[in-house]
Amino acid sequence: MSMAFSKVPLFRYITFFSLPPPPLPRLRTLSCPQYPFCSLSSSSASSSTSSSDSSTSPPQKNTSSRWRPTCLYFTQEKCTMMDDPVHLEKFNHDISKDLQVNSAAKCSQDLDFFLVLDLEGKIEILEFPVIMIDAKTMAFVDFFHRFVRPTEMSEQHINKYIEGKYGKFGVDRVWHDTAIPFTEVLQQFEAWLIQHWLLGKEQGSRLNRAAFVTCGNWDLKTKIPSQCNVSKIKLPPYFMEWINLKDVFYNFYKTKKSEASGMRSMMNNRKIPMFGSHHLGIDDTKNIARVLQHMLADGAQMRITARRNPDSQNVEFSFENRI
Ligand SMILES: [Zn+2]
Repeated sequence: MSMAFSKVPLFRYITFFSLPPPPLPRLRTLSCPQYPFCSLSSSSASSSTSSSDSSTSPPQKNTSSRWRPTCLYFTQEKCTMMDDPVHLEKFNHDISKDLQVNSAAKCSQDLDFFLVLDLEGKIEILEFPVIMIDAKTMAFVDFFHRFVRPTEMSEQHINKYIEGKYGKFGVDRVWHDTAIPFTEVLQQFEAWLIQHWLLGKEQGSRLNRAAFVTCGNWDLKTKIPSQCNVSKIKLPPYFMEWINLKDVFYNFYKTKKSEASGMRSMMNNRKIPMFGSHHLGIDDTKNIARVLQHMLADGAQMRITARRNPDSQNVEFSFENRI
């Protein structure tokens, strides 16, 4: 989770977008604020900010290439409006769209796949997004995305927390509609890993030919172990090692520390435009994946930067010069 944010309100999510009309107390559709954390650098996107209520607008022509917010019901396999052209026009249902590449990785990699992960949630995990990238072709392969319901917080605290965190993007309702406990998220994630042959079916396996890629050490060094503790489960062994993209970036490009200190600074340094809402996990994950693709195209060798010792639980880092 990187800390910088944009103050430029260029795009917004609409709160009321995918399921059939909800019960009245949850309707909060008509006052769509300009979400202060939204940021969009796509040159074709500035024309797309005008329609505020898609439910009555006809589909616009020639807009298929413009940037659109992702349908967050779809990413969690819960979109019920896939046959509604207005909905399809308004929301992106193709995660690969922002991750197109026209070259392959410049140098060979030890791993076959990278799993870009960028958790959200300071107290407990609220969002668990993963994007799978092919190490050789740099192509998008698949994604896994779930909103996560805290286990130890009161309902009142959750409501306030979600309002503050996701209300500004207008996606608090989809969060409430879809969030499931962390233990269920992990079960579904493991099934997803097995489906991609990245994890053996027996418990206790490490990742096969793949590694997590994160922006910093916080996600896997701090947050996952702390959430496992709260959720009263053992830390799964596939979370024991990872690639901190910032360390690889810093050492590969030989930048100043400040230029590799977060997602936004790395994107600025490489002049990669940012898509979506900063601090919406699925959008940040896409942007980090785009930094990864850029680095692979430039010839960066990805390698494990941090390993947790299963006995001592201490984390050891491989780069001498680290962020
Ligand atoms: Zn949808």
